Amino acid sequence: MIYLDHAAATPLDPAVLKKMLPYFSRNFANPSSVHGPGQAALKAVDDARYAIAEILGAKGPEIIFCSGATEANNLALRGLAEASGPLRQLHIISTPIEHASILEPLAHLKSRGVVVTYLRVDSRGVVSPADVIAAIRPETALITIALANSETGVIQPLKAIGRLLRKYNEKARAEWLKASPRKRGSEPRRVLLHTDATQAPHFLDCRPAQYQADLMSLSGHKLYGPKGIGLLYIRSGLKLSPLALGGHQERNFRSGTVNVPGVIGLSAALTAAAAGRGKNSRKIGRLRDSLLSQIKRFYPEAISNSDPAHALPSHLNISFPGYDGDALLSALDSFGIAVSTGSACASGDITVSPVLRAMGRDELTARGALRFSLGKRTTPADIRLTVAALKKALSAR
Ligand code: PMP
Repeated sequence: MIYLDHAAATPLDPAVLKKMLPYFSRNFANPSSVHGPGQAALKAVDDARYAIAEILGAKGPEIIFCSGATEANNLALRGLAEASGPLRQLHIISTPIEHASILEPLAHLKSRGVVVTYLRVDSRGVVSPADVIAAIRPETALITIALANSETGVIQPLKAIGRLLRKYNEKARAEWLKASPRKRGSEPRRVLLHTDATQAPHFLDCRPAQYQADLMSLSGHKLYGPKGIGLLYIRSGLKLSPLALGGHQERNFRSGTVNVPGVIGLSAALTAAAAGRGKNSRKIGRLRDSLLSQIKRFYPEAISNSDPAHALPSHLNISFPGYDGDALLSALDSFGIAVSTGSACASGDITVSPVLRAMGRDELTARGALRFSLGKRTTPADIRLTVAALKKALSAR
């Protein structure tokens, strides 16, 4: 089997599994227990927390473990909105190409009175930093933009957005301070920045401070780590309402017994991802570029939806206009090649990708899209065999 769906899930690294195993069996205790075995589990969780914080250039208590990026995104958006006063007085800025775990919480908040602005993206799927700042209103509480898109791999100019936002916030505060104390209203709300960085840590620096981000979501299973574990970086001092009430774990942000093996696995996986970032980016990027040029050679009408200059090196989303992406996916599957048509979380409910439509692709082009996402173990032979199978699938119609 040739697996080219690493954006949906990566195989668990055996070295990561090895570190996790003792925490399923010998060291099984609950880290909230006060006895010796419980405290040993707590120490393992906190060591992992500080190792992750070090990689992210954050403080240990700013790392909140949860079940994955879906929960982290929900906690960031709903938790922040709930803690920020009446929902009818809130405004959030985002894009139409976010993952379902952003778009659905936004729709939910919208139904409860929050105003949401979805910014335009260009034909590469990139948002303009100037547009982000221009969309800010006095009620704006949060901007949420993924660092890299899961369907196309397209990377957003988040550093520029963060820089401009910082200037905006500083200026708003300086103007408020300058106004006479009697005339000025309440202190302006600092607009916060959240980024869903789930697809990125293998290839990009994910230190929140790089982007002036206040909140950042990550997930274990995109990093050769386990499923069911993720984290939300919450800059110290921020108030968020928890999604679930219970045992007050994770500094009250996330109740529930901590997934100890998951935390150990997430820390090991993130450490390996950070260490191998440069090497993996170059190796995987070369294979992705080779896949694109081989496809273009035999099928010049194919339209790449992942501009290599602006996308993660792992992703090639490419359209074969006039074809049905789902049918091509099934044909490739029958040849033993696993790919996807878009986000695994969205497939099943929609056949035309809203991400590609937002990038201005017509319906025929969007319908004919396939996403190849390469990984650490992808080989040149995998690419050759994939191209040969794709040729057959395209000519079988
Ligand atoms: N955000 C992005 C960008 C993703 O790619 C995914 C996984 N498809 C998620 C969020 C959800 O992550 P999880 O499966 O850990 O809930």
